[in-house]
Amino acid sequence: MTENGELAALRSEVDGINHELLALFSRRARLAQEIHEQKLRSGRPVHDPERERQMLSQLIAENPGPFPAGVVAQLFGELFSATKALMEGAERKGLRVARGPGDPDLLVRVGTETVGREPVLIAGPCSVENAVQIDRTAAFLASRGVRLLRGGAYKPRTSPYDFQGLGREGLELLAVAARRHGMQSVTEVVDTRHVEEVCRYADVLQVGARNMQNFELLKEVGRAARPVLLKRGPSATLHELLHAAEYVAAQGNGAILLCERGIRSFDNQTRNVLDISAVPLLRRATALPVLVDVSHAAGRKDILAPLARAALAAGAQGILLEVHPSPATARSDAQQQLDFDEFARFEAETSAFWTRAPVAHPRVERVSSGAEQA
Ligand code: PEP
Ligand code: MN
Repeated sequence: MTENGELAALRSEVDGINHELLALFSRRARLAQEIHEQKLRSGRPVHDPERERQMLSQLIAENPGPFPAGVVAQLFGELFSATKALMEGAERKGLRVARGPGDPDLLVRVGTETVGREPVLIAGPCSVENAVQIDRTAAFLASRGVRLLRGGAYKPRTSPYDFQGLGREGLELLAVAARRHGMQSVTEVVDTRHVEEVCRYADVLQVGARNMQNFELLKEVGRAARPVLLKRGPSATLHELLHAAEYVAAQGNGAILLCERGIRSFDNQTRNVLDISAVPLLRRATALPVLVDVSHAAGRKDILAPLARAALAAGAQGILLEVHPSPATARSDAQQQLDFDEFARFEAETSAFWTRAPVAHPRVERVSSGAEQA
């Protein structure tokens, strides 16, 4: 055989081995899938690091060379993690809130409004404080075309000595202002015992960041006949957020709006750090609408327009914004609420996004408005 012929023969042998390896990898992955399903059926833990350790030490003991033990460990380590990722992907597909292949965006109906198509703005004060404050805010926002009015009646506050919200009275004032100005209302519910009451007054139930993993509350709003605005906890992973949404969906309420509102980090120039990556990652993982609360992310008012532009450019389907007639006197979050002039500037600085047609996202077909409307 010529030298070239010999090389070609060796190469073709390598090609053959590659094919055999690929077939073996696939066979191994299918076996792992079968094992995974059996474990799920019998309720056994799906990941078994001890078994991986045993397999690896056996392989290293039997290693014929020439690869050193470290390389064998690395190669099989890769194989083990790829298999684990495959199983996690399979679990994710099982979630009701997961976007299946080709699934269109989910539209969530909020009364007469629709969230999930063109970007929406949800604006209003941090807390409902009195009739004049909420009515003036609603009148102003309605005059600017805002259709969704926010305002807290039950407030989760860091200190028990801070204003806790007006409770039932706040719900009433918010509902009256929203109706008078043709808006839909969004307010937080902090306690399973309040869900029924909040449903009587509000169009959307907000579950706040601090309650993202209050599983009993998630189940209760999952049984309610109202869409749920679920905020990401300040230290919650996206996996945890999606599973929190799954708690709601599992009870029959698929009308969920996810909201990124900043995560905790080390830099104190902002209250939280707005995680823009959350937007495209959530849009990919789920068909639910994804919103961004720029006010609670920043905790200041001078950078809200650029944050909103970034969020909308990344694919957010709406923005939450705190607006108050006189922020300096606000009973909560005074430092971050916009007054009416500042709102007008915010609007001008983000105007391109409110008129723009939705970018190339999947076709919209499915519509949800919460469990059977009462
Ligand atoms: C709020 O929106 O009023 C609020 C308290 O926000 P978060 O739960 O994101 O802190
Ligand atoms: Mn607030």
